[in-house]
Amino acid sequence: KLVSREFKKTDSIVEVRGIPFGGPEIQVIAGPCSVETAEQMRQAAAAVRAAGCRLMRGGAFKPRTSPYTFQGVGDEGLDFFREAADAYDLPIVTELMDVRKIDVFLEKRVDVIQIGTRNMQNFDLLKEVGRLNVPVILKRGMSATIKEWLMAAEYIAAHGNHRIIFAERGIRTFETQYRNVLDVTAIPVLKKETHLPVIVDPSHAGGKAALVAPLAKAAIAAGADGLLIESHPCPEEAWCDADQALSPEQLTQLMGELRRVAEAVGRTL
Ligand code: PEP
Ligand code: MN
Repeated sequence: KLVSREFKKTDSIVEVRGIPFGGPEIQVIAGPCSVETAEQMRQAAAAVRAAGCRLMRGGAFKPRTSPYTFQGVGDEGLDFFREAADAYDLPIVTELMDVRKIDVFLEKRVDVIQIGTRNMQNFDLLKEVGRLNVPVILKRGMSATIKEWLMAAEYIAAHGNHRIIFAERGIRTFETQYRNVLDVTAIPVLKKETHLPVIVDPSHAGGKAALVAPLAKAAIAAGADGLLIESHPCPEEAWCDADQALSPEQLTQLMGELRRVAEAVGRTL
């Protein structure tokens, strides 16, 4: 298997515009759940940069549970995102749900394609992304086993794209007090099974802003290569996932705390 440690013993570094995932440096990607307006993205990018994060996230196409809620601003959102991120020299990470949007993603120079939890086993999407020369963040399906997750990555790699970053984002259990359960165990297990980088999304795991810091620290302590965090210039006004978004101040404070945890495990941030 192309993504397995048997195939390649040493850690693979996945570079995004010169930023390495999978080395000693821990990378933090932050930004809003959704692209909303040009101004919101400018403010969000300024805060992401000021906090010291090196990449920015934001969805223009949202996989919402209800078809009657906000679905994302669409193509135009990629322009808002590109413009704001370029002003602060931040590579952009955004979710792809539909193969028909691949041309637009390439045209807008999306730096990292995110495959969401709901599409982890959308094999036709995985095959098409496998034909691109663009790094991919592959989120774990909310009910997927480690083996299924590895095989989903294998679909991408088998079609030629080896630039894959795994993202643990919490799994479904019997617990209802928080959004998902962060599977911390998956981090060392996956690092043993694959040579590719593994990052963690504490925002969708906990579903609450107050849970982001403890889960992010646990992830780094457990060996994660990076974090994917939701932040918003004004969390209470976010169009999507308002409860879990960090304010600019919270993001800056968290980065300081994470730096100390990273040092404790012999890494930098
Ligand atoms: C997201 O990152 O915006 C998202 C929808 O996450 P997930 O696919 O993990 O639910
Ligand atoms: Mn979200």
